[in-house]
Amino acid sequence: MTPRWDERQRAMLGALGVNWWPAGAPAARPTAPRAARVAAPETASIPIPVVAPAPVPRATPAPAALRPVAAALAEAPQLQRPVAQAEGLDWPELNAAIHACRACGLCEQRRQAVPGVGHGQAQWLIVGEGPGEQEDLQGEPFVGASGQLLDAMLAALKLTRAVADPERQVFIANAVKCRPPGNRNPEPEEIAACRPFLLRQIELVRPRMVLALGRIAARALLSSEAPLGQLRGRVHQGPGGVPVVVSYHPAYLLRNPLEKARAWDDLCLAADGVEAHGAEPAP
Ligand code: SF4
Repeated sequence: MTPRWDERQRAMLGALGVNWWPAGAPAARPTAPRAARVAAPETASIPIPVVAPAPVPRATPAPAALRPVAAALAEAPQLQRPVAQAEGLDWPELNAAIHACRACGLCEQRRQAVPGVGHGQAQWLIVGEGPGEQEDLQGEPFVGASGQLLDAMLAALKLTRAVADPERQVFIANAVKCRPPGNRNPEPEEIAACRPFLLRQIELVRPRMVLALGRIAARALLSSEAPLGQLRGRVHQGPGGVPVVVSYHPAYLLRNPLEKARAWDDLCLAADGVEAHGAEPAP
């Protein structure tokens, strides 16, 4: 059983010198240089099966309120954009498809798509919401202050985004691969359009645990409209039966540092799940 946060904080964080707690010092950057990080396998000169020219009308106007992903999926045929198809793609094909994708309106203003980074067979798959300005510039998820906090959270579990074995190096992806303009939340139609890519990433990585950070990630993985607070605190069955634990997005934790204690509980719950299934084959 993974110890709860008080004990774990003393025993592990103190030893590691990692302090991302409300009363502590600013989050520490892990020691591995960015150059040591790896992107998901490089794109390849493989024909891209999912993309067609799309001189089409814009999708129907997005509603003010967030509508269920299921409803957006039901309306997908009306969007008149090429549907993202990732079934059966290998890593190079998948990354090429993501970079070329025009399945939703987020393609219009992106500098580049951001497929994800990490170990192709990682035990942990981290899912955020969507690229921000820096991610759009750099082509990597979770950079900037949120990324630094995520790195510190991972380090507290002896995990990293730097090159390591699949027990330690995570894979990091987002619910949508292109930046929503102005850093707005992705619309349900956009989450639905991009979901095939996320599902294929899960199929390829076959993680022991998926950590969904924030409401958008939780909805993309669980198709649930429940508030994040109701989704925390238990292990869900995600796509293909993969275990999913929901927690706060690091950007939220930066604004609400007192919630880090609850976030740590979530990480411990997820670590318990990985340990409990350590001897079992990945789903
Ligand atoms: Fe395609 Fe996803 Fe980008 Fe939309 S967000 S254009 S579905 S890759």
